[in-house]
Amino acid sequence: MKAKQKEQKKPTVSTYAGGEFSLLAETLPQFVWITREDGFLVFWNQRFADYLQATPEQLQGYGWRQFLHPEELKHVLAVRRHSLETGDPYEITYRLRNGRTGAYHWFLTRAMPMRDKTGQIIEWLGTSTDIDEQKQIEEALRQSQERASLLMNSSILGIFLTEGSQIIEANETFLRMTGYNREDMQQGRVNWISIMLPAPTSLHQRAHQECSIQQYTTPFEAELLCKDGSHLPVLLGGIAFHTRVCQGIGFALDNSARQELERRKDDFLSIASHEFKTPLTALKLQSQMVRKHLLRHGHHEMAATFSRVEEPFRRLERLVGELLDVSKIQTGRFEHLQESVDLNLLLQEVADTLQHMSNTHAIVIHGTAPSSLIGDKGRLEQVFINLLSNAIKYAPDAPLIKVEVSSSAETVTISVRDYGIGIPQELHKKIFERFYRASDISRRAVPGLGMGLYIVAEIVNRHRGCITVDSEVGKGSTFSVTFPLEGPMKAA
Ligand code: ADP
Repeated sequence: MKAKQKEQKKPTVSTYAGGEFSLLAETLPQFVWITREDGFLVFWNQRFADYLQATPEQLQGYGWRQFLHPEELKHVLAVRRHSLETGDPYEITYRLRNGRTGAYHWFLTRAMPMRDKTGQIIEWLGTSTDIDEQKQIEEALRQSQERASLLMNSSILGIFLTEGSQIIEANETFLRMTGYNREDMQQGRVNWISIMLPAPTSLHQRAHQECSIQQYTTPFEAELLCKDGSHLPVLLGGIAFHTRVCQGIGFALDNSARQELERRKDDFLSIASHEFKTPLTALKLQSQMVRKHLLRHGHHEMAATFSRVEEPFRRLERLVGELLDVSKIQTGRFEHLQESVDLNLLLQEVADTLQHMSNTHAIVIHGTAPSSLIGDKGRLEQVFINLLSNAIKYAPDAPLIKVEVSSSAETVTISVRDYGIGIPQELHKKIFERFYRASDISRRAVPGLGMGLYIVAEIVNRHRGCITVDSEVGKGSTFSVTFPLEGPMKAA
């Protein structure tokens, strides 16, 4: 009888139906529910049932458990048991199945104990809020942080944070690469300007210089001056961002293996071109001697046939010469003379030589230079032979090539203009790089190794001049070289 009385006190599904509480519960955006102290569900709002797509029969009592994610029931029961023991409210996150889609969403559930007159917990009043979106964002953030820290902790990339010219934070790899430690950084001893060679502008300035809109630097080769005074070749890049102060995040990739490979390639080029040069010169001399011998003995036809080998020899000689020049530029052994050069005469000679070799193009010179230049005649010849040869090579169907000479009080400019295939705007800088060749179909058949303009730019630079290109695809190209009229050349 006693047990029966106790049982009657317990709330049932009808206890809250239709009352003010149930009206209030319908206005809330969350799920609202009430269970007995052991989790027996006696009240839920319509929103809850709609989400689960459950009938009252499926939900009431302990039926709601079937909508809970199977991995979480044990945990839910344990949390409630614990709160029952302590008498505290509880808060828990778990997944409930969406009856319409079958997918589980995360919910944050908070429950308050309701007590009888003796203070004993008889019910739990709870709300469940859909926090699935928030959970997904948290998960995406966690994953992205995990990936970022994977990169940060990898031994591949040195990563650092700059503030002004100071490096204020760096990963272990960067510290290992440079030999500095965290204390050095905290004490402001790792200064961007002093550890980078050649001494740069700040990462920020560099990013800004590169482009006023873009906030990142394209990776570039540099050297880091390590704490012990050694130099480490690296590939550097970074992103600048504005906070209160100028900050940047940068990366450094150890480039020494690649540089070593480059060095070996340069050594190979230097040795190979030297090795070619000697037998080539000997062969050329021999062939000239044989030709003269044949002429002396009246074998004119044979001598004429023999003379045909001279053009391939000349081409080979030029190629080997360019290879040697490239390797000399690389190793700082590119020598030049300082002499007085009559530019007008030089241009005329070069134009005549090339005109003699080409019966497909007409080379026309307009204008004259006002005075002589101080420079290296042979090297300057090389500049114009290259520009004119290119004009002939890359304008196969446009026979006119113009050389225009103009001057101001301080400078003289020589422009070589052709009406050939032209150069796309985005390659105007690249074509001056070592071994760079534009590789579109129209150029593939044209022979070359991409050394000419690299050497030309170096020679022009040695003469304190500058070279520019103005070109449009299909319309032709103009290469303009400007030299100062007075003053010494640059030292080698
Ligand atoms: P090469 O002619 O041996 O390839 P260069 O260094 O002289 O090497 O030239 C580099 C590239 O620049 C060439 O591959 C070519 O694509 C482009 N180029 C140079 N001069 C001209 C020109 N006058 N017209 C069109 N393209 C040119």
